[in-house]
Amino acid sequence: MKLACDLHLHSCLSPCGDDDMTPANIAGMASVKGLGAAALTDHNSAKNCPAFFKACEAYGVLPIAGMEMTTAEDIHVVALFPDLASAMEFDRFIDEKRVRVRNRPDIFGRQRIMDEQDRQIAEEPDLLINALSLDIAAATESARSFGALVYPAHIDKEANGIIAVLGMIPPEPVYTCFEFHDRANVETYREKYALGGAKAVISSDAHYLWDIAEGETALRVECPETGSADARRRAVLESFL
Ligand SMILES: [Zn+2]
Ligand SMILES: [Zn+2]
Repeated sequence: MKLACDLHLHSCLSPCGDDDMTPANIAGMASVKGLGAAALTDHNSAKNCPAFFKACEAYGVLPIAGMEMTTAEDIHVVALFPDLASAMEFDRFIDEKRVRVRNRPDIFGRQRIMDEQDRQIAEEPDLLINALSLDIAAATESARSFGALVYPAHIDKEANGIIAVLGMIPPEPVYTCFEFHDRANVETYREKYALGGAKAVISSDAHYLWDIAEGETALRVECPETGSADARRRAVLESFL
């Protein structure tokens, strides 16, 4: 079966994510919009993924744990993990690679860690959107070593897109897919930047509930209807290899 997916979503843990983007609200909205799978990809953190998993399971949406890393070059790269445990292990690894700057909630926004019932359990004190001490090659390789599918985020956007930053797609690291914000850009970019047969991931990069993709027009991936959640998640990730 084809599963409607939105694989790039920010919760209220991302400073730029709306306060209403709690894990439970995202899961509920994903269900209302008819999505079969949804990935939580906060900036440089996976700490809202445990609550997101529980909430998605209650709503019957397949949850995927992810992270949007900011590389040392200021390029955004998405990592999607095959299971929650790998994502949380990677989160601990990334915590050591963060450049610590105190968050200023009045300027950047709050960074709230929630439980599945929308209760705040902690607030991340250090800013999450600044660059990690990992360049794009190291960030990609590290996430892959935790089993993740890794690809450059919103390559058709000015802010933090790999092409906007580097002016091209470098030959290394090699990616099997690239993320686009706008489906209409895929073929133009494929030709102009020699993307060859790489697959396109179309995601909303939602920071507000209303920006989450609509099931009818969302990206669709092949995924078995039955089987364990881990097996179904693996099928989603493998469809981009
Ligand atoms: Zn981004
Ligand atoms: Zn994003």
